[in-house]
Amino acid sequence: MSLRDEGLDVLLVDGELRPAASGATFATVDPATEEVLGSAADAAGEDMDAAIAAARRAFDGSSWSTDVDRRVRCLRQLRDALQAHGEEMRGLTTSEVGAPTFLTHGPQYDLPVADLGIAADIAESYEWRTDLGQAAPLGIASRRWLLREPAGVVGAVTPWNFPHQINLAKLGPALAAGCTVVLKAAPDTPWAASAVGRIIATETDIPPGVVNVVTSSDHALGAQLSTDPRVDVVSFTGSTATGRKVMAAASDSLKKVFLELGGKSAFVVLDDADVAAACGMAAFTVCTHAGQGCAITTRLLLPRARFDEGVDAVVAAMAGLGAGDPWDPGTICGPLISARQRDRVEGYLALAREEGGSFACGGGRPPDRDTGFFVEPTLVVGLGNDARVAREEIFGPVLVAIPHDGDDDAVALANDSDYGLSGSVYAGDPDRAWAAARRMRTGTVSVNGGLWYGGDVPFGGYKQSGVGREMGVLGFEEYTEAKSVAEPA
Ligand code: NAD
Repeated sequence: MSLRDEGLDVLLVDGELRPAASGATFATVDPATEEVLGSAADAAGEDMDAAIAAARRAFDGSSWSTDVDRRVRCLRQLRDALQAHGEEMRGLTTSEVGAPTFLTHGPQYDLPVADLGIAADIAESYEWRTDLGQAAPLGIASRRWLLREPAGVVGAVTPWNFPHQINLAKLGPALAAGCTVVLKAAPDTPWAASAVGRIIATETDIPPGVVNVVTSSDHALGAQLSTDPRVDVVSFTGSTATGRKVMAAASDSLKKVFLELGGKSAFVVLDDADVAAACGMAAFTVCTHAGQGCAITTRLLLPRARFDEGVDAVVAAMAGLGAGDPWDPGTICGPLISARQRDRVEGYLALAREEGGSFACGGGRPPDRDTGFFVEPTLVVGLGNDARVAREEIFGPVLVAIPHDGDDDAVALANDSDYGLSGSVYAGDPDRAWAAARRMRTGTVSVNGGLWYGGDVPFGGYKQSGVGREMGVLGFEEYTEAKSVAEPA
């Protein structure tokens, strides 16, 4: 029987797959067809309360936090079970998220599932106890140790754009570190989380309460995780506006806050670059998953003397990347997640015109699609870096091209942003590309098309793009506490 036939309208609380206590459900919708796929459990405060209590009990009262071998085994078991369900899970992801199928073989499913193995490997080889040697402070000869311990109960709050990537990039390292987790899924993609919850409950030895999965149409359940004193860490991915609220709410109980937020990343083309190749890549990047990626480069900084050449190259590339059926293996640009998100993107397109910009291509809905939340790949020209469409996150297939006057100016424009999540640099001379990359104040940079994404590579933002790093050893350590211990030498 498929996961869908078994039922995805359930929460996972204390090891039990069950409906919301009230029995309420809400619809999850296919953004490419606007059809209701089915229903999800609509949890309320009492369900979240039970999930937090279960996670607290599992952390305080079981050997999960101390038994590394057990955790490593369970994580590999979870990875294998998710891989065994790969075909159905990839299909569900295309249906619910509108993710083009080619992405489900990458960061929308297969890669984050495989990365659970990296989290297990890190836990297995990690130096949990470091010998800091001997010293005699105040004349007391002592042997000192640094212990790393799990941070406790993690409240994981996630968005809809890459739900498996983000859910699993929190679950894997948090579980590997010995934490227990309450995962609060995004209201637009509840099934992505509940399917993982069902697999955990039925096909792994992860003990009851160690992972709790809560789906809800109510954003307040995320806020509940930020304020509840039984939660030790809030690991949040979402918009900068919500991240600010999470940080403020968490301050009462002074819990550790880990934030992965928005971006307005720059794609810098220097004047000795292959402009056509660079602009083809810039167009491809912003069209991928209809631009619904926090680290997608959405400002194209072109050398002034080669601006028109760059614009023509983007327009030519976008002509072949038109919004299409996510089930078509050739589709790069699928639908936006919802009518609300399409309204938001169309609002920015209207603003681009009001601000004095124009569209070199795109600028509206594709004429051949009257259902689904599609927007055409769009290139905005005629605006500077001070325009709102160049400063605010749009989260759609919208690229803003801006001229620059040399390497220093390009770097200054790239850094002239409240955000600092990611960036790209293209140059003929790799040393020039590297010099610009080093000066960009962002958590990740691609040099001449290199791809930094991976479970072993830390990801996160400078400035208002976040606090902390996800993935890699740094990401794993976000879910640990440090304890220094001394004994007489
Ligand atoms: P969002 O901030 O609206 O919601 C994210 C999550 O927070 C959802 O689960 C939501 O229910 C919950 N939430 C809402 N209000 C809350 C509150 N007051 N307290 C706690 N939780 C609350 O974001 P979204 O629209 O779902 O996702 C898009 C945003 O996510 C974009 O800004 C994008 O850049 C960002 N994002 C960032 C990364 C990253 O790693 N930096 C990755 C993906 C998406």
